Amino acid sequence: MKAFTPDSSIASDVIPSPNFGERNKGRLVDMILLHYTGMPDVEGAIAQLCTPGTDVSAHYIVLEDGRIVQCVPEAKRAWHAGISAWAGEDDINSCSIGVEIVNRGHDWGYPDFPLRQIAAVIALCRGIMLRRNVPPHRVLAHSDVAPSRKKDPGEKFPWASLANSGVGHWVFPAPIVAGEVLKAGATSDDVRALQEALRRYGYGIPVTGKYDGATMEVVAAFQRHFRPLRVDGVADHSTMATLHALLSSLPGDAVNVAAAT
Ligand SMILES: [Zn+2]
Repeated sequence: MKAFTPDSSIASDVIPSPNFGERNKGRLVDMILLHYTGMPDVEGAIAQLCTPGTDVSAHYIVLEDGRIVQCVPEAKRAWHAGISAWAGEDDINSCSIGVEIVNRGHDWGYPDFPLRQIAAVIALCRGIMLRRNVPPHRVLAHSDVAPSRKKDPGEKFPWASLANSGVGHWVFPAPIVAGEVLKAGATSDDVRALQEALRRYGYGIPVTGKYDGATMEVVAAFQRHFRPLRVDGVADHSTMATLHALLSSLPGDAVNVAAAT
């Protein structure tokens, strides 16, 4: 593979991956999608992302010691999102930069993310946001765009720290209190309103009025990102209050775009 000059000035290495294509119809980047590698060792993860035939890749890999490796030029379409959707769009690879954060993930013990690794993720994302004009609310988790398939980067990922540096959209989660909840099996206008609110935020959720498996998965994905203290797929008061606080602090144009789809 041909080497290239890294787009980010803080990427220390380039390991070119052959797994990329062109962005569909020249779609400009306006999203950053964060992942964990979910593999037991870093060599295996890099090999997976950079070997012909695996059909997966990412623009960047952030190692545990904070080093940043670029594998695909930002102008190209890397293959990291898979079947996914956000705000009415389903070709997430065409609109996003994919960042793989080295972490063994839920299947291999799910260690904490080291501070120096998070500092590197923040610096990398800030640069991409500036260069590509990515708004904070378009820095998302893989689990947000593929809630039925993915958990990464997971409930241990420190979104609050990122938000302190202007990366990602965040409000302090509403406290967990006792009270009525919406959960699996319920059918009501309240469930419909919840689904509409999640959809307005960007989640790819059908509005059916029934609290089905897909609704549970989306609520769990929402919690993993925005209310990580309890990830159970049950829409309690804290979950709904946090969702509404997020919605009311979105830029106006973002809400309209999502609602129109
Ligand atoms: Zn992922």
